[in-house]
Amino acid sequence: MTTEQDANKERLELALEAAGLDLWENDLVTGDVIRKTSKIFAELGYGEEESLSYMDDIFKIVHPEDVPLIRTAINDHLKGIETQYRCEFRVRSKSGAWVWYANYGKIMDREGGSGGRRFIGVTFNIDDRKRNEEMLAVRGQVWRTLVENSPDTIARYDRECRRIYVNPALSKLTEGGTNALLGKKPSEFPGGQDYIVFESKIREVFETGRDVEFELNLTSHTGKKFCTHIRLTAEHDLSGSIVTVMAVGRDISELNMERQKVNEMAFYDSLTGLPNRRLLIDRLQRSLASSARSGLNNALIFIDLDNFKTLNDTLGHDIGDLLLREAAQRLTACMRQEDTVARMGGDEFVIILEKLSERVQEAEFQVGTFGRKILAILNQPYQLANHNRHITPSIGIVLFSGNQLSIDELMKRADIAMYQAKKIGRNTIRFFDLDMQTAVENRSSLEESMKQALPLQQFEIHYQPQVNDAGTIVGAEVLLRWQHPVHGTILPADFIPIAEETGLIVDIGLHALKSACQQLKTWEKDPGKNHLHLAVNISARQFQQADFVEQITGVFKSAEINPARMTLEITESMVLGNVHETINKMHALKEKGVKFAMDDFGTGHSSLSSLKRLPLDQIKIDQSFVHDISENDDAAVIIQTIIAMGNNLGMEVIAEGVETAEQKDFLIQHHCVNFQGYFFGDPMPLDEFERVIAITLPPIRNGSIDAVSSPNCMPDAIISLP
Ligand code: C2E
Ligand code: CA
Ligand code: CA
Repeated sequence: MTTEQDANKERLELALEAAGLDLWENDLVTGDVIRKTSKIFAELGYGEEESLSYMDDIFKIVHPEDVPLIRTAINDHLKGIETQYRCEFRVRSKSGAWVWYANYGKIMDREGGSGGRRFIGVTFNIDDRKRNEEMLAVRGQVWRTLVENSPDTIARYDRECRRIYVNPALSKLTEGGTNALLGKKPSEFPGGQDYIVFESKIREVFETGRDVEFELNLTSHTGKKFCTHIRLTAEHDLSGSIVTVMAVGRDISELNMERQKVNEMAFYDSLTGLPNRRLLIDRLQRSLASSARSGLNNALIFIDLDNFKTLNDTLGHDIGDLLLREAAQRLTACMRQEDTVARMGGDEFVIILEKLSERVQEAEFQVGTFGRKILAILNQPYQLANHNRHITPSIGIVLFSGNQLSIDELMKRADIAMYQAKKIGRNTIRFFDLDMQTAVENRSSLEESMKQALPLQQFEIHYQPQVNDAGTIVGAEVLLRWQHPVHGTILPADFIPIAEETGLIVDIGLHALKSACQQLKTWEKDPGKNHLHLAVNISARQFQQADFVEQITGVFKSAEINPARMTLEITESMVLGNVHETINKMHALKEKGVKFAMDDFGTGHSSLSSLKRLPLDQIKIDQSFVHDISENDDAAVIIQTIIAMGNNLGMEVIAEGVETAEQKDFLIQHHCVNFQGYFFGDPMPLDEFERVIAITLPPIRNGSIDAVSSPNCMPDAIISLP
């Protein structure tokens, strides 16, 4: 071999080495193996000895499935079927893994006829490529499986927005099959606006390349409505330009229904199906805005069912619910499309009436007419299971135009008007006016400060003398005065009703009684005063306390006084309820020695027969009759009757509100021997009262005390007497 041949051979070896090729060569004429595959064995991890053995017979480590493939490929080439010998096969490595190799080869005829025919080729590692191909194939398979079985709908769109692929979920959902979808644009579907929106979104993705997500209400081929959540994603080719857009959709119709249910729960009353407070407030907000734009009046109407609580308590909540549903239906039937009727909770309904006249008077007339219609319709009898009931509403109305007033303020006003309707006797309509509000505000601020009045000792006890016909002060009626830090002295007429409504009267009344008892105790040791009686007013609410008797006896006990010096003044309203219970309580206390007086006698409605059954010691002729003595014959007759009745029943009779000498004379003439009134003395603080009782009045039976010309100044007049 020449040096040049050597050099060529070396160059060839280097090139093969660099390319990772293992050269082999066979002489087809002699059958000699000129060069064997030799390099791959080291690559496969075999040692020298094993390498040598496999070089002789590589088929020992070729994958059995691939051996026939190699043979076929060689034969095909030898026979001239294939112009080249190409084959891919697996060889086992030392570690046992199969590694992919390829053989490329060809039969070569040596020039000059000297060398005959050679079969020459290379073996090289293709494992990486094969693995990649396998992976891609698996991925493709996985992708297809996912897409075909996905519950989500998948479609791909080309640049014209035509579908080039749809998965089974989509053709199922749209109910028209795959062919109805492929090659079509969304806008070609006769589903209306939503499909046009859909197509414009696809174009948007083609333009921007950004994903978009949205929800659409779509229609199937058979007209079924469904709501889908759709995500559009751009798909790029290798150069990075967008070739298709993929749309993945999810049917969220059910989810939407759930959402709607939650929504309904949040905005509608579950019992009546009417809008609830939240929705009402939302509507009111809009109503304010719309009236501001239009300049028209709107009205807010509060409706409260009278005595609903009693019905609920006596017939049970199920029946109460039936009534509320029925009332809701009746109200709904009266409404126009643009109006709202809502349930605020309990037995309160609220209506917003829109688009009334821009002139207030006319609007008032309109809403008044509507209010009367509601009044009438709710007054119809209710058939509730097997109960037939009649229930009435109280209705408060406030008009509004524009949004100067806040929602809270409007609601407050309608509420105030409704309470006024209740106050003036229920089953009626009241419009809000500002005087109402002032009264209510005063009242609620009084209510607040009244809670503090007892602990802050703001209640003062006044004593109004009670005088007999001998001119002797035999005792006094205890009357409360509230010394308010801001408003000054507040009279009972202005705070007792609130105390009664709030229940504070129970403690306040007990306070009056305790103070009176302490006073009696103090007087006990004073010979000039130990004969005095005191009368304390008892409110119905106090009397109705289950432990009323215990409360009162407890006070007597701890004050250690003789209860016979105490008169409790009750009114006819207490008897109206349970006469039997009233009598029992009175008897229980009378056993301790307490006396009872019927206050304001003649003004109530209790029957004479039930009055006769009460263990009363005294009746107090109401001051209205005394006041009318000279002007009104009826009053004079009534007074005579009361006196006669009292005397017959063995009860003491005392006249209240005696202001003039004529009144006093008339009473004496008709044998009334006990008096109370400005003529004898105003209600006064303790020190003043104690000064007054120190003075013994001359007998008045002969009418000699007439020195007092002006009422309300009697204490001074008494003191100034000789
Ligand atoms: P009442 O029990 O009928 O008390 C008599 C009221 O007539 C007192 O009003 C008294 O000041 C007033 N009066 C007395 N003499 C005359 C008179 O000659 N002419 C006129 N026009 N009025 C006279 P007052 O003190 O304002 O009390 C009003 C009502 O408040 C009382 O009416 C009583 O029902 C209630 N009240 C007062 N203190 C208490 C209390 O401690 N507990 C309860 N439950 N009610 C009380
Ligand atoms: Ca009284
Ligand atoms: Ca009275």
